[in-house]
Amino acid sequence: MEEEKKTFDANEAALLVKELNESFRTGKTKSYEWRVSQLKSIEKMVVEREKDIYEALYKDLSKPEFEAFVSEIAMVKSSCKEALKELKHWMKPEKAKTSMETYPSSAEIVSEPLGAVLVISTWNYPFALSVKPVIGAITAGNATVLKPSEIAPATSSLLSKLFEEYLDRSAVRVVEGDVPQTTALLEQKWDKIFYTGSPRVGRIIMTAAAKHLTPVVLELGGNAQLLLILMLTYKLLQGGSLEASGRFCPKLIDALRKGIEECFGTDPMESKDISRIVSSNHFSRLQSLMDEYKVYNKIVVGGQRNQKELKIAPTIFLDVPGDSQLMQEEIFGPLLPIITVENVKDSIDLINSKPKPLAAYLFTNNDKLKNYFVQSVSSGGMAINDTVLHVTVSSLPFGGVGESGMGSYHGKFSFDAFSHKKAVLYRSFSGDSSVRYPPYTPEKQKL
Ligand code: NAD
Repeated sequence: MEEEKKTFDANEAALLVKELNESFRTGKTKSYEWRVSQLKSIEKMVVEREKDIYEALYKDLSKPEFEAFVSEIAMVKSSCKEALKELKHWMKPEKAKTSMETYPSSAEIVSEPLGAVLVISTWNYPFALSVKPVIGAITAGNATVLKPSEIAPATSSLLSKLFEEYLDRSAVRVVEGDVPQTTALLEQKWDKIFYTGSPRVGRIIMTAAAKHLTPVVLELGGNAQLLLILMLTYKLLQGGSLEASGRFCPKLIDALRKGIEECFGTDPMESKDISRIVSSNHFSRLQSLMDEYKVYNKIVVGGQRNQKELKIAPTIFLDVPGDSQLMQEEIFGPLLPIITVENVKDSIDLINSKPKPLAAYLFTNNDKLKNYFVQSVSSGGMAINDTVLHVTVSSLPFGGVGESGMGSYHGKFSFDAFSHKKAVLYRSFSGDSSVRYPPYTPEKQKL
């Protein structure tokens, strides 16, 4: 595999795209039967190779098996199940209204596959965030290349093996690698690029796509963590004042400490249920956020770390300065800064002064506040009185806005993300009028 990765260059990428386009042009990926066969193969792959998937996720992230099941395996299984159940319905042309001007006529919106598409994914859910977009691409009838994250190498290599073994290699492929291989892929003309990762690389992807006028879905990041904890305080503050926040903050911190203890015991570093940080680079990055002199003394819960095992305990900071790195950068790790604010408006102003996040959360029983939050905060998605769970609702689009991305997927939204909505008007030969043709006589213009 190493050899293969090293030799994959722009020439090979061009050959691969050519092969996939040829396959696509035979029309086989468009057929309902082909789509179903590939979806069933993914289901089979997940059932038969579940243990291998757990093993790879453990190697890459020390992800506990149950967590891997809930957040990766189950997500992929349910996407396949839904797609298999709904595919006929999704593929059906959608009737559309016509106007007097086109009478007699009928119209429909036909979902057609785009062609050869590229999916580039990330490492935090390296299995689900790779396979779920591929399910969308297959469901919509495209030929697909997946480039998994090199930062989760065991999962990347497993995906490469499994796709070869279970899927139709003439139309579904994996290319492993990092920047050079991704760059080689990005030089080619794709019919869509679906990318999950950082806003920084998102810009590189969009620039490469622009060269070929390729549309993109960008599933990017953002500091949802900041919003979560801001909003958590509301539960206790119930929209209260600074004085109340002073009183309630210790309560909130105690509750969070207790919650962490219930999950991971008194020493989280000894817990079997805590995943590790994905790489030593990310460990060092998080360590430097924790050690910045502006925030060092602000740790109120956690703070333990183990460089050898790449583990960091869930760590909470209180009232860190706004200009600290912790508040400026995307954290993407188990660090949670709490900022106390004077009132609801101030907190919403603070949120809105930051780049638009992928998710925002609010905890309250106050309906007015819920409504105010939904109306005032712009984010990819939201959950009220919970976190992250909106991601599991496949009737909701999952995607970002502004700095957190563009486009969305999950359920039917995945099918739509990889389809072109073709407008088709059916006219009959009868009923045509000469009014719209020259010469534009005064009589015609009066009509
Ligand atoms: P990343 O942007 O570094 O890498 C993502 C992918 O891009 C990888 O496959 C990588 O090989 C490729 N890549 C990296 N540098 C590249 C370059 N110069 N040219 C071309 N390709 C390149 O991101 P990451 O570290 O894997 O993931 C972390 C980010 O992903 C965070 O910002 C996080 O918020 C975001 N994320 C978003 C979602 C979502 O669903 N919106 C989910 C998970 C993670």
